[in-house]
Amino acid sequence: MADKKDLSDVRNIGIMAHIDAGKTTTTERILYYTGRSYKIGEVHDGAAVMDWMEQEQERGITITSAATSCTWKSKRINIIDTPGHVDFTVEVERSLRVLDGAIAVFCAVGGVEPQSETVWRQAGKYKIPRIAFINKMDRVGADFARVVAMMEERLGANPVVVQIPVGKESEFEGVIDLIENKMYVFDEETLGQEIIEKDIPDGYRDRSTAAHMVLIEKLADFDDGIMEKFLDDTRVSATEIYRALRTATLNLDLVPVLCGSAFKNKGIQPLLDSIIYYLPSPLDVPPMIGLGKQGEDIIRKADVKETFSALIFKLMSDAFVESLAFIRVYSGILKVGDKVYNPVKKKKEKISKLLRLHANKREEVGSLRAGDIGAVIGLKFSTTGDTLCANGDYIVLESMDFPEPVIGIA
Ligand code: GDP
Repeated sequence: MADKKDLSDVRNIGIMAHIDAGKTTTTERILYYTGRSYKIGEVHDGAAVMDWMEQEQERGITITSAATSCTWKSKRINIIDTPGHVDFTVEVERSLRVLDGAIAVFCAVGGVEPQSETVWRQAGKYKIPRIAFINKMDRVGADFARVVAMMEERLGANPVVVQIPVGKESEFEGVIDLIENKMYVFDEETLGQEIIEKDIPDGYRDRSTAAHMVLIEKLADFDDGIMEKFLDDTRVSATEIYRALRTATLNLDLVPVLCGSAFKNKGIQPLLDSIIYYLPSPLDVPPMIGLGKQGEDIIRKADVKETFSALIFKLMSDAFVESLAFIRVYSGILKVGDKVYNPVKKKKEKISKLLRLHANKREEVGSLRAGDIGAVIGLKFSTTGDTLCANGDYIVLESMDFPEPVIGIA
Protein backbone atom coordinates (compact mmCIF):
# COMPACT_ATOMS: atom_id res chain seq x y z
CA MET A 1 0.00 0.00 0.00
CA ALA A 2 2.71 2.45 0.89
CA ASP A 3 4.02 3.04 -2.53
CA LYS A 4 7.57 4.12 -2.86
CA LYS A 5 7.62 6.26 -5.93
CA ASP A 6 10.88 8.01 -6.24
CA LEU A 7 10.61 11.70 -5.40
CA SER A 8 11.98 12.57 -8.81
CA ASP A 9 8.92 10.83 -10.28
CA VAL A 10 6.45 13.16 -8.55
CA ARG A 11 5.02 16.40 -9.95
CA ASN A 12 2.88 18.67 -7.78
CA ILE A 13 1.23 21.05 -10.17
CA GLY A 14 -1.56 23.59 -10.39
CA ILE A 15 -3.59 24.67 -13.38
CA MET A 16 -4.01 28.42 -13.56
CA ALA A 17 -6.41 30.16 -15.87
CA HIS A 18 -8.69 33.06 -16.48
CA ILE A 19 -12.32 32.01 -15.98
CA ASP A 20 -13.64 30.28 -19.10
CA ALA A 21 -10.20 29.65 -20.62
CA GLY A 22 -10.76 25.93 -20.13
CA LYS A 23 -9.18 24.98 -16.82
CA THR A 24 -11.96 22.53 -15.91
CA THR A 25 -12.06 20.93 -19.36
CA THR A 26 -8.27 20.59 -19.45
CA THR A 27 -8.23 19.04 -15.97
CA GLU A 28 -11.01 16.62 -16.91
CA ARG A 29 -9.18 15.55 -20.04
CA ILE A 30 -5.93 15.08 -18.12
CA LEU A 31 -7.75 12.83 -15.66
CA TYR A 32 -9.42 11.01 -18.51
CA TYR A 33 -6.23 10.28 -20.46
CA THR A 34 -4.25 9.35 -17.37
CA GLY A 35 -7.06 7.05 -16.21
CA ARG A 36 -7.39 5.45 -19.62
CA SER A 37 -5.69 2.21 -18.68
CA TYR A 38 -8.46 1.16 -16.32
CA LYS A 39 -11.13 2.85 -18.40
CA ILE A 40 -10.24 1.21 -21.64
CA GLY A 41 -13.11 -1.26 -21.57
CA GLU A 42 -15.59 1.56 -21.42
CA VAL A 43 -14.12 3.67 -24.13
CA HIS A 44 -14.66 1.60 -27.19
CA ASP A 45 -18.18 2.76 -27.74
CA GLY A 46 -16.90 6.19 -28.56
CA ALA A 47 -18.94 8.22 -26.09
CA ALA A 48 -16.40 7.69 -23.38
CA VAL A 49 -15.25 11.13 -22.34
CA MET A 50 -18.66 12.63 -21.88
CA ASP A 51 -20.10 9.51 -20.26
CA TRP A 52 -17.27 9.35 -17.89
CA MET A 53 -17.62 12.98 -16.98
CA GLU A 54 -21.32 12.61 -16.37
CA GLN A 55 -20.76 9.58 -14.18
CA GLU A 56 -18.20 11.46 -12.18
CA GLN A 57 -20.56 14.36 -11.76
CA GLU A 58 -23.24 12.06 -10.43
CA ARG A 59 -20.83 10.54 -7.98
CA GLY A 60 -19.69 13.85 -6.60
CA ILE A 61 -16.64 14.18 -8.68
CA THR A 62 -13.11 14.43 -7.47
CA ILE A 63 -12.15 16.90 -10.17
CA THR A 64 -13.22 19.59 -7.75
CA SER A 65 -11.13 18.00 -5.05
CA ALA A 66 -8.39 20.07 -3.45
CA ALA A 67 -5.87 17.62 -4.88
CA THR A 68 -6.21 14.77 -7.36
CA SER A 69 -3.52 12.23 -8.15
CA CYS A 70 -3.00 10.64 -11.52
CA THR A 71 -0.26 8.67 -13.20
CA TRP A 72 1.32 9.35 -16.55
CA LYS A 73 4.16 7.21 -17.91
CA SER A 74 4.78 5.89 -14.38
CA LYS A 75 5.19 9.37 -12.89
CA ARG A 76 2.72 10.60 -10.32
CA ILE A 77 1.08 13.93 -11.06
CA ASN A 78 -0.76 15.58 -8.17
CA ILE A 79 -3.04 18.32 -9.43
CA ILE A 80 -3.70 20.91 -6.76
CA ASP A 81 -6.77 23.04 -7.19
CA THR A 82 -5.81 26.67 -7.66
CA PRO A 83 -8.68 29.01 -6.84
CA GLY A 84 -9.80 30.87 -9.92
CA HIS A 85 -10.78 34.17 -8.33
CA VAL A 86 -8.88 37.37 -8.77
CA ASP A 87 -8.25 38.46 -5.22
CA PHE A 88 -4.93 37.91 -3.67
CA THR A 89 -6.30 35.81 -0.88
CA VAL A 90 -4.73 33.55 1.63
CA GLU A 91 -6.26 30.62 -0.20
CA VAL A 92 -4.55 31.45 -3.50
CA GLU A 93 -1.32 32.08 -1.66
CA ARG A 94 -1.57 28.76 0.16
CA SER A 95 -2.30 26.73 -2.96
CA LEU A 96 0.66 28.37 -4.71
CA ARG A 97 2.83 27.37 -1.78
CA VAL A 98 2.06 23.68 -1.96
CA LEU A 99 2.57 23.27 -5.69
CA ASP A 100 5.94 23.11 -7.41
CA GLY A 101 4.99 23.96 -10.98
CA ALA A 102 2.00 25.11 -12.99
CA ILE A 103 0.25 24.99 -16.34
CA ALA A 104 -1.12 28.36 -17.39
CA VAL A 105 -4.11 27.82 -19.67
CA PHE A 106 -4.91 30.66 -22.06
CA CYS A 107 -7.80 30.97 -24.46
CA ALA A 108 -6.57 31.16 -28.05
CA VAL A 109 -9.16 33.85 -28.79
CA GLY A 110 -9.13 35.92 -25.59
CA GLY A 111 -5.41 35.55 -24.95
CA VAL A 112 -3.93 37.01 -21.80
CA GLU A 113 -6.82 38.44 -19.82
CA PRO A 114 -6.59 40.56 -16.67
CA GLN A 115 -7.15 37.63 -14.35
CA SER A 116 -4.42 35.61 -16.03
CA GLU A 117 -2.10 38.52 -15.36
CA THR A 118 -2.89 38.53 -11.64
CA VAL A 119 -2.33 34.82 -11.13
CA TRP A 120 0.75 34.90 -13.35
CA ARG A 121 2.33 37.55 -11.17
CA GLN A 122 1.45 35.65 -8.00
CA ALA A 123 3.11 32.55 -9.43
CA GLY A 124 6.14 34.68 -10.28
CA LYS A 125 6.31 35.90 -6.72
CA TYR A 126 6.49 32.30 -5.55
CA LYS A 127 9.03 31.47 -8.27
CA ILE A 128 6.84 28.75 -9.74
CA PRO A 129 8.08 27.32 -13.04
CA ARG A 130 5.34 27.32 -15.66
CA ILE A 131 4.38 25.90 -19.01
CA ALA A 132 1.65 27.51 -21.12
CA PHE A 133 -1.18 25.72 -22.91
CA ILE A 134 -2.99 27.81 -25.49
CA ASN A 135 -6.42 26.19 -25.52
CA LYS A 136 -9.48 26.53 -27.79
CA MET A 137 -7.44 26.41 -30.99
CA ASP A 138 -10.61 25.12 -32.66
CA ARG A 139 -12.53 28.34 -32.01
CA VAL A 140 -13.25 31.01 -34.58
CA GLY A 141 -10.71 33.77 -34.10
CA ALA A 142 -8.08 31.53 -32.50
CA ASP A 143 -4.70 33.16 -32.93
CA PHE A 144 -1.73 31.28 -31.51
CA ALA A 145 0.94 33.86 -32.41
CA ARG A 146 -1.09 36.69 -30.90
CA VAL A 147 -1.36 34.92 -27.54
CA VAL A 148 2.39 34.22 -27.52
CA ALA A 149 3.02 37.92 -28.21
CA MET A 150 0.60 38.86 -25.42
CA MET A 151 2.54 36.66 -23.01
CA GLU A 152 5.61 38.74 -23.77
CA GLU A 153 3.90 42.11 -23.71
CA ARG A 154 1.43 41.75 -20.88
CA LEU A 155 3.19 39.22 -18.66
CA GLY A 156 6.80 40.08 -19.40
CA ALA A 157 7.30 36.35 -19.90
CA ASN A 158 9.87 34.76 -22.18
CA PRO A 159 7.71 32.21 -24.00
CA VAL A 160 9.34 29.58 -26.17
CA VAL A 161 7.14 27.85 -28.69
CA VAL A 162 7.65 24.07 -28.71
CA GLN A 163 4.64 23.23 -30.88
CA ILE A 164 2.89 25.05 -33.67
CA PRO A 165 -0.75 24.42 -34.57
CA VAL A 166 -1.74 22.79 -37.86
CA GLY A 167 -4.99 24.06 -39.33
CA LYS A 168 -7.10 26.86 -37.98
CA GLU A 169 -10.42 27.05 -36.19
CA SER A 170 -12.71 24.17 -37.21
CA GLU A 171 -9.88 22.83 -39.38
CA PHE A 172 -7.52 22.62 -36.40
CA GLU A 173 -6.07 19.17 -36.79
CA GLY A 174 -3.06 18.79 -34.60
CA VAL A 175 0.37 20.14 -33.80
CA ILE A 176 3.90 20.10 -35.11
CA ASP A 177 6.35 19.16 -32.40
CA LEU A 178 9.36 21.39 -33.02
CA ILE A 179 11.67 19.22 -30.93
CA GLU A 180 10.81 15.86 -32.49
CA ASN A 181 10.14 17.40 -35.90
CA LYS A 182 6.90 15.47 -36.25
CA MET A 183 3.30 16.32 -36.77
CA TYR A 184 0.72 14.80 -34.44
CA VAL A 185 -2.91 14.49 -35.45
CA PHE A 186 -5.45 13.57 -32.77
CA ASP A 187 -8.08 11.29 -34.16
CA GLU A 188 -11.59 12.54 -33.41
CA GLU A 189 -13.17 9.11 -33.83
CA THR A 190 -11.25 7.74 -30.88
CA LEU A 191 -11.62 10.93 -28.84
CA GLY A 192 -8.00 11.76 -29.39
CA GLN A 193 -6.79 8.48 -27.96
CA GLU A 194 -5.23 7.56 -31.24
CA ILE A 195 -2.42 9.88 -32.18
CA ILE A 196 -1.40 9.70 -35.79
CA GLU A 197 2.20 10.62 -36.37
CA LYS A 198 2.85 12.27 -39.72
CA ASP A 199 5.64 13.98 -41.55
CA ILE A 200 5.46 17.73 -41.54
CA PRO A 201 3.19 18.79 -44.44
CA ASP A 202 4.85 20.73 -47.27
CA GLY A 203 2.94 23.90 -46.52
CA TYR A 204 4.34 23.94 -42.98
CA ARG A 205 7.99 23.06 -43.61
CA ASP A 206 9.40 26.59 -43.79
CA ARG A 207 7.33 27.74 -40.88
CA SER A 208 8.38 24.89 -38.63
CA THR A 209 12.06 25.21 -39.61
CA ALA A 210 11.94 28.90 -38.73
CA ALA A 211 10.15 28.17 -35.44
CA HIS A 212 12.69 25.44 -34.63
CA MET A 213 15.52 27.95 -35.14
CA VAL A 214 13.83 30.44 -32.81
CA LEU A 215 13.60 27.69 -30.20
CA ILE A 216 17.33 26.90 -30.53
CA GLU A 217 18.24 30.57 -30.46
CA LYS A 218 16.26 31.14 -27.28
CA LEU A 219 17.84 28.11 -25.61
CA ALA A 220 21.30 29.27 -26.69
CA ASP A 221 20.87 32.34 -24.47
CA PHE A 222 20.81 30.05 -21.44
CA ASP A 223 22.93 27.08 -22.49
CA ASP A 224 26.55 27.38 -23.60
CA GLY A 225 26.62 23.99 -25.35
CA ILE A 226 23.63 24.94 -27.46
CA MET A 227 25.09 28.40 -28.13
CA GLU A 228 28.23 26.80 -29.57
CA LYS A 229 26.24 24.53 -31.83
CA PHE A 230 24.01 27.40 -32.85
CA LEU A 231 27.02 29.52 -33.85
CA ASP A 232 28.60 26.57 -35.69
CA ASP A 233 25.35 25.75 -37.41
CA THR A 234 25.48 22.20 -35.99
CA ARG A 235 22.34 20.21 -35.33
CA VAL A 236 21.17 20.15 -31.71
CA SER A 237 19.71 16.78 -30.67
CA ALA A 238 16.25 16.39 -29.13
CA THR A 239 17.86 15.14 -25.90
CA GLU A 240 19.95 18.29 -25.62
CA ILE A 241 16.91 20.45 -26.25
CA TYR A 242 14.83 18.70 -23.57
CA ARG A 243 17.61 18.99 -21.03
CA ALA A 244 18.32 22.67 -21.71
CA LEU A 245 14.65 23.57 -21.83
CA ARG A 246 14.00 21.81 -18.54
CA THR A 247 16.79 23.78 -16.88
CA ALA A 248 15.63 27.09 -18.39
CA THR A 249 12.04 26.40 -17.29
CA LEU A 250 13.07 25.48 -13.74
CA ASN A 251 15.19 28.66 -13.56
CA LEU A 252 12.16 30.69 -14.72
CA ASP A 253 14.11 31.86 -17.77
CA LEU A 254 11.72 30.38 -20.33
CA VAL A 255 8.10 29.27 -20.55
CA PRO A 256 7.49 26.40 -23.00
CA VAL A 257 4.32 27.02 -24.99
CA LEU A 258 2.00 24.28 -26.28
CA CYS A 259 -1.40 24.43 -27.86
CA GLY A 260 -4.51 22.37 -28.41
CA SER A 261 -8.19 22.08 -27.85
CA ALA A 262 -9.17 20.41 -24.62
CA PHE A 263 -12.78 20.28 -25.71
CA LYS A 264 -11.90 18.49 -28.95
CA ASN A 265 -9.43 16.17 -27.18
CA LYS A 266 -6.43 17.52 -29.02
CA GLY A 267 -3.05 18.14 -27.50
CA ILE A 268 -3.56 16.71 -24.02
CA GLN A 269 -1.03 13.86 -24.18
CA PRO A 270 1.84 16.16 -25.27
CA LEU A 271 0.81 18.48 -22.45
CA LEU A 272 1.11 15.58 -19.99
CA ASP A 273 4.53 14.74 -21.42
CA SER A 274 5.58 18.35 -20.93
CA ILE A 275 4.56 18.29 -17.26
CA ILE A 276 7.00 15.43 -16.83
CA TYR A 277 9.73 16.94 -19.02
CA TYR A 278 9.77 20.53 -17.85
CA LEU A 279 8.09 20.99 -14.49
CA PRO A 280 9.96 20.34 -11.24
CA SER A 281 9.84 17.38 -8.91
CA PRO A 282 9.90 18.16 -5.17
CA LEU A 283 13.66 17.65 -5.36
CA ASP A 284 14.05 20.50 -7.83
CA VAL A 285 12.57 23.20 -5.63
CA PRO A 286 14.22 24.92 -2.65
CA PRO A 287 13.68 23.25 0.74
CA MET A 288 10.88 24.45 3.00
CA ILE A 289 11.80 26.99 5.63
CA GLY A 290 9.67 26.95 8.77
CA LEU A 291 9.82 28.68 12.12
CA GLY A 292 11.05 27.05 15.30
CA LYS A 293 9.88 27.73 18.85
CA GLN A 294 12.07 30.81 19.23
CA GLY A 295 11.14 32.12 15.81
CA GLU A 296 14.34 30.77 14.29
CA ASP A 297 14.42 29.44 10.72
CA ILE A 298 14.33 25.69 10.32
CA ILE A 299 15.11 24.16 6.96
CA ARG A 300 13.36 20.95 5.97
CA LYS A 301 14.49 19.19 2.84
CA ALA A 302 12.23 16.99 0.74
CA ASP A 303 13.78 13.85 2.10
CA VAL A 304 12.17 10.85 3.76
CA LYS A 305 15.08 10.72 6.21
CA GLU A 306 14.31 14.18 7.60
CA THR A 307 11.98 14.71 10.57
CA PHE A 308 8.32 14.69 9.52
CA SER A 309 6.57 17.97 8.73
CA ALA A 310 3.46 18.75 6.71
CA LEU A 311 1.15 21.66 5.97
CA ILE A 312 -2.64 21.37 5.93
CA PHE A 313 -3.67 23.39 2.90
CA LYS A 314 -7.38 22.65 2.69
CA LEU A 315 -10.18 21.08 4.65
CA MET A 316 -13.11 19.72 2.71
CA SER A 317 -15.73 17.01 2.70
CA ASP A 318 -15.77 14.39 0.00
CA ALA A 319 -18.62 12.45 -1.55
CA PHE A 320 -18.62 10.17 1.48
CA VAL A 321 -19.13 13.24 3.66
CA GLU A 322 -16.03 12.67 5.59
CA SER A 323 -13.90 15.59 6.54
CA LEU A 324 -10.60 15.43 4.72
CA ALA A 325 -7.55 17.45 5.63
CA PHE A 326 -5.37 17.82 2.55
CA ILE A 327 -1.71 17.94 3.37
CA ARG A 328 1.57 18.37 1.66
CA VAL A 329 4.30 16.43 3.38
CA TYR A 330 7.47 18.49 3.21
CA SER A 331 9.86 16.17 5.01
CA GLY A 332 9.95 12.69 6.51
CA ILE A 333 7.17 10.11 6.36
CA LEU A 334 3.67 10.12 7.82
CA LYS A 335 2.28 6.67 8.61
CA VAL A 336 -1.11 5.43 9.64
CA GLY A 337 -1.04 5.00 13.42
CA ASP A 338 1.42 7.85 13.96
CA LYS A 339 0.81 10.42 16.66
CA VAL A 340 1.78 13.85 15.44
CA TYR A 341 1.85 17.33 16.93
CA ASN A 342 0.01 20.42 15.76
CA PRO A 343 2.16 23.26 17.15
CA VAL A 344 -0.35 25.92 16.09
CA LYS A 345 -3.18 24.41 18.14
CA LYS A 346 -0.79 22.86 20.68
CA LYS A 347 -2.56 19.53 20.31
CA LYS A 348 -1.62 15.99 19.45
CA GLU A 349 -3.41 14.26 16.62
CA LYS A 350 -3.64 10.57 15.78
CA ILE A 351 -3.39 9.55 12.14
CA SER A 352 -6.05 6.92 11.60
CA LYS A 353 -6.49 6.99 7.85
CA LEU A 354 -4.48 8.34 4.93
CA LEU A 355 -5.86 8.74 1.43
CA ARG A 356 -4.78 9.57 -2.04
CA LEU A 357 -7.60 10.89 -4.22
CA HIS A 358 -7.84 9.88 -7.85
CA ALA A 359 -10.26 10.93 -10.55
CA ASN A 360 -12.60 8.04 -9.87
CA LYS A 361 -11.59 6.52 -6.58
CA ARG A 362 -10.07 7.10 -3.20
CA GLU A 363 -7.13 4.96 -2.30
CA GLU A 364 -6.20 4.22 1.27
CA VAL A 365 -2.46 4.33 1.69
CA GLY A 366 -0.25 3.28 4.58
CA SER A 367 1.96 6.34 4.40
CA LEU A 368 2.62 9.65 2.70
CA ARG A 369 6.20 10.63 2.08
CA ALA A 370 8.20 13.84 1.72
CA GLY A 371 7.09 15.72 -1.38
CA ASP A 372 3.75 13.97 -1.54
CA ILE A 373 0.20 15.22 -1.34
CA GLY A 374 -2.77 13.39 0.13
CA ALA A 375 -5.50 13.62 2.73
CA VAL A 376 -5.84 12.67 6.39
CA ILE A 377 -9.20 11.63 7.79
CA GLY A 378 -10.24 12.15 11.39
CA LEU A 379 -8.15 15.05 12.63
CA LYS A 380 -9.87 16.52 15.66
CA PHE A 381 -8.29 19.92 16.22
CA SER A 382 -6.49 20.94 13.08
CA THR A 383 -7.57 23.44 10.45
CA THR A 384 -6.35 24.89 7.18
CA GLY A 385 -2.94 26.49 7.44
CA ASP A 386 -1.85 24.41 10.44
CA THR A 387 1.38 22.48 10.52
CA LEU A 388 1.67 18.84 11.57
CA CYS A 389 5.06 17.76 12.82
CA ALA A 390 6.65 14.82 14.58
CA ASN A 391 5.69 14.39 18.20
CA GLY A 392 8.24 16.23 20.34
CA ASP A 393 9.25 18.45 17.44
CA TYR A 394 8.25 22.05 16.78
CA ILE A 395 8.09 23.71 13.40
CA VAL A 396 5.48 26.04 11.95
CA LEU A 397 5.42 26.04 8.16
CA GLU A 398 3.05 28.90 7.55
CA SER A 399 3.51 32.33 9.04
CA MET A 400 0.77 33.31 11.42
CA ASP A 401 -0.01 36.80 10.24
CA PHE A 402 -2.58 35.75 7.69
CA PRO A 403 -6.17 36.75 8.36
CA GLU A 404 -8.15 33.81 9.68
CA PRO A 405 -9.34 31.98 6.55
CA VAL A 406 -12.87 30.84 6.06
CA ILE A 407 -12.68 27.08 6.16
CA GLY A 408 -13.93 25.89 2.79
CA ILE A 409 -16.42 23.08 2.71
CA ALA A 410 -16.52 22.46 -1.02
P1 GDP B 1 -12.83 27.28 -16.80
O1 GDP B 1 -13.76 28.36 -16.34
O2 GDP B 1 -11.47 27.85 -17.11
O3 GDP B 1 -12.75 26.10 -15.90
O4 GDP B 1 -13.36 26.82 -18.23
P2 GDP B 1 -14.17 25.51 -18.67
O5 GDP B 1 -13.29 24.35 -18.80
O6 GDP B 1 -15.37 25.39 -17.81
O7 GDP B 1 -14.58 25.94 -20.14
C1 GDP B 1 -15.38 27.08 -20.39
C2 GDP B 1 -16.17 26.84 -21.65
O8 GDP B 1 -15.30 26.72 -22.76
C3 GDP B 1 -17.00 25.56 -21.60
O9 GDP B 1 -18.20 25.80 -22.27
C4 GDP B 1 -16.13 24.56 -22.36
O10 GDP B 1 -16.89 23.56 -23.00
C5 GDP B 1 -15.48 25.46 -23.40
N1 GDP B 1 -14.18 24.96 -23.83
C6 GDP B 1 -13.18 24.49 -23.06
N2 GDP B 1 -12.13 24.11 -23.82
C7 GDP B 1 -12.49 24.36 -25.10
C8 GDP B 1 -11.82 24.17 -26.36
O11 GDP B 1 -10.71 23.70 -26.46
N3 GDP B 1 -12.53 24.55 -27.46
C9 GDP B 1 -13.77 25.08 -27.40
N4 GDP B 1 -14.38 25.42 -28.54
N5 GDP B 1 -14.43 25.24 -26.24
C10 GDP B 1 -13.80 24.89 -25.11
